Amino acid sequence: MREPTRLQGVPAAPGIAIGPWARVGRAPLPTGGKIDPADADAEIERARAAAATAAEELDALAAQVRDGGHEDEAAIFGAAAEMARDPALLDGAAEHIRSEGMDAIAAVPAAAGSIADLLAGLGDELLAARATDVRDVGDRIARILAGLPREATLDVGSIVVAEDLSPALTATMPRERLLGIVLTGSSPTAHAAILSRAYGIPAVVGTTGVIEAVEAAGAGAVVSVDGTSGEVVIAPDDATLADFQARAERARVAGDRDRAEAHEPAVTRDGTEVALVANIGSPADAAGAVELGARGVGLFRTEFLFMERATPPTEDEQAAAYTEAIAAFDGDPVTIRLLDVGGDKPIPYLPIAPEENPFLGVRALRLAVDRPEIFVTQLRACYRAAVAGPVKVMAPMVADARDARRLLELAAQARDGLTAEGVPIGDVLIGVMLEIPSAILVADSYFGDLAFASLGTNDLTQYTLAVDRGNPALESYRDSLHPAVLRLIRASVEAADRSGTELSVCGEMAGDPASALALVGLGIRSLSMGATSLPAVKRAIRATDLATLESAATAALDDASAVQVRARFAEILPA
Ligand code: PEP
Ligand code: MG
Repeated sequence: MREPTRLQGVPAAPGIAIGPWARVGRAPLPTGGKIDPADADAEIERARAAAATAAEELDALAAQVRDGGHEDEAAIFGAAAEMARDPALLDGAAEHIRSEGMDAIAAVPAAAGSIADLLAGLGDELLAARATDVRDVGDRIARILAGLPREATLDVGSIVVAEDLSPALTATMPRERLLGIVLTGSSPTAHAAILSRAYGIPAVVGTTGVIEAVEAAGAGAVVSVDGTSGEVVIAPDDATLADFQARAERARVAGDRDRAEAHEPAVTRDGTEVALVANIGSPADAAGAVELGARGVGLFRTEFLFMERATPPTEDEQAAAYTEAIAAFDGDPVTIRLLDVGGDKPIPYLPIAPEENPFLGVRALRLAVDRPEIFVTQLRACYRAAVAGPVKVMAPMVADARDARRLLELAAQARDGLTAEGVPIGDVLIGVMLEIPSAILVADSYFGDLAFASLGTNDLTQYTLAVDRGNPALESYRDSLHPAVLRLIRASVEAADRSGTELSVCGEMAGDPASALALVGLGIRSLSMGATSLPAVKRAIRATDLATLESAATAALDDASAVQVRARFAEILPA
């Protein structure tokens, strides 16, 4: 029997998963050939039948994604099914088959390519984005004709092993069969990891050698994953399997305890209350967050509404999604973050010219210079949804007073437009994310105009320490407990106190118990995190005294490294 292979990766989403490995990624496109002209009619019939199968598959995918609570993501598969049924595609393929003697495998992608070129040449960004989808549909039909797999689908419950996963792919994989994720690349603050945590799917990133190891173990080999410790074992022996099963049982018991304690307040032993709220990525995440004790939403990442679809969500669709989340929180405030695309979150219908450094490029609010209507539509949806309950709206990637002013102008435009149209609106508090160091250093110049600010410590760490948030090679450089980051957080607290601006933290740091204690010690009284992190953070807060945290935080500002700071708070952290 083979020896198990043990690898150590970086923990990215807690939990235990055991199952056969699967690679996601599609098979390469088949190459087409030529046919005898006498067979043209039969070949056209083959193309027609394959297109019909493609349409059915896409409809089924749409239904599956919709059943999983992802109405918006389902729309893209519905649109693709329509493309597969479009007679123009089959007419074009028939033409290639008859006049050039192409076989269907060559003819369908060629016809799809011509339609795509036409769309791309019309000078309209939305239509150009659909060009990619048409090509994809043509490729799917060719794969059906060649008997090749079409999807990053999972036939059975699997541990997905990959170099990296795009946020869109992570969001649309069949969740009931996605047991765990092991990536060679990525990092805990990349969006694939954030989504895994939101969905409760154990994940380990930065696991060098895992692809070679599973391939050596062979198809169907079992992989056990501990998303809390970062251990990955390929082809585990009986003792290892029993160990992982025992860990899974302990995690289940801990989960039951977490839910039972969910509604106890997060108060330090000496009586300081900290508001614990949730980060969500779609209204479907709301119920789970409420169950784990979230008293509202500190960050609703709305870009997932905008991904995996051919056109942007309409104002009505957005208002419905925001209203659904607001209703789930029953009077507790929901903080909606305006669209944050660019960086590691590209979007097909909002093409951004290729950039050498996308994280330093036209990302998030910077997109409003050329495309203000995207943000005005989103803000209109927020004002309309605010009729259902308290809403706060914040802009990502604000650098200074000019950006804050731009945000306020967009908000005024949205509000005034709705008022002039007689559309009912609710009150919306406007704020910014603090994730670019400059925004903190000049906070006094604009904080007075805003209701609140929220520290996005993922990007703040990336931009302060010059550490790409997705690069696994920089793991030892990436820790938000770095004293430089802590000093910026402290400066934010002081600026917020001077202007009376509400301040919270919504980066991943808030969900790490040791870091959460440091934040409370620095003066933060509101922490927003992936819902699965709430129980452990609450337990840490309830077991400590504010005085202890304050003196540790003050000392940490003068520490020389994140390692030192982490050791300081690890000591305070309850066992
Ligand atoms: C952050 O940068 O800390 C943040 C919360 O936003 P995102 O992770 O979506 O960039
Ligand atoms: Mg950010």
